[in-house]
Amino acid sequence: MTRFESVAEAIGGTPLIRLTKTGLRPRIYVKPEWYNPGGSVKDRAALSMLRAAEASGALAPGGTVVETTSGNTGIGLALYAAHLGYRSVIFTSSSISKEKRDLLVAHGAELRLVDAFVPKTHPDSLKSVAERFVASTPGAWLANQYDNPANPAAHVATTGPEIWADSEGSVTHFVATVGTGGTISGTGRFLKEASAGAVRIIGADPATSSYSGGDGSQKFIEGAGHFVHPLADEDTWPESLDLTVIDAYSPVTDAEAIATIREVARTEGILAGGSSGVALAAGLRLAASLDESATVVILLPDSGRAYLSTYYNDDWLLANGFRTEAGDVVGAVAAP
Ligand code: PMP
Repeated sequence: MTRFESVAEAIGGTPLIRLTKTGLRPRIYVKPEWYNPGGSVKDRAALSMLRAAEASGALAPGGTVVETTSGNTGIGLALYAAHLGYRSVIFTSSSISKEKRDLLVAHGAELRLVDAFVPKTHPDSLKSVAERFVASTPGAWLANQYDNPANPAAHVATTGPEIWADSEGSVTHFVATVGTGGTISGTGRFLKEASAGAVRIIGADPATSSYSGGDGSQKFIEGAGHFVHPLADEDTWPESLDLTVIDAYSPVTDAEAIATIREVARTEGILAGGSSGVALAAGLRLAASLDESATVVILLPDSGRAYLSTYYNDDWLLANGFRTEAGDVVGAVAAP
């Protein structure tokens, strides 16, 4: 289907693209989610949460869409809120990049910058401030992607079926990062059911993320992994994450993720983002241990265009310890 009657209908249907230069034995396909209108996998969850809120009556004409994110979910929500005629208010940290700020504003979102380095439960946290705004604003609805069942449901309904159909049921391994867990939980649940449990689901995770046993300290890669606030007294995982779906985690260092996307950009011609590097590194490492009977599908959440000034920039790499003066990128590339 290549003709749509509205931008909302143009979500999903992203392709599978085969990697041809890895020299590895399995068939390896990537699913680039930047083919979505808002540029990331989060378009699927954003529209799904909006539609569920409309259906339940939590969001009605004249209403206000609220979320606490600077990332791809905010962009998706702002885009579809604009399309559906809602006001959108995004609460975000003042450290947000200019590009992201401009994207949100371009879709008419109101940005409320909250300069608070405090745990979620603190009255000045982003979450607390947004919840107070929602409580005092008639018609306001908080999307709350971390605990909203419509987030993983989007992937049961679309991402999973697309991979199953486009691989003609041949997928044996699915690799994705875990942020809210929506993508891996929903897609993984569908693929397990469709294959009577045969498809292996691998959570690619930043090495310091607490999902895969890391110490929870935040590093560079955005969107993927779970990090514990230094002042938090407990570490609660999102309800969007269904732990029973994930067969194994594969931890990846930032250096390995960055080296991998740079290599894939130059060899395959595919320009992937930072969390995509985590998924790619884990997927290629896995594929190196498999034979011709395997078909590995790796989901890439967003494009490298948003990271041209960081992971693809030699000065940034040098300043952040990812490159030596000699010019080589520190961190092994996963594939031979
Ligand atoms: N990568 C990026 C760049 C993201 O924005 C997100 C969404 N937080 C993810 C990965 C993880 O997706 P999910 O929330 O569905 O687990």
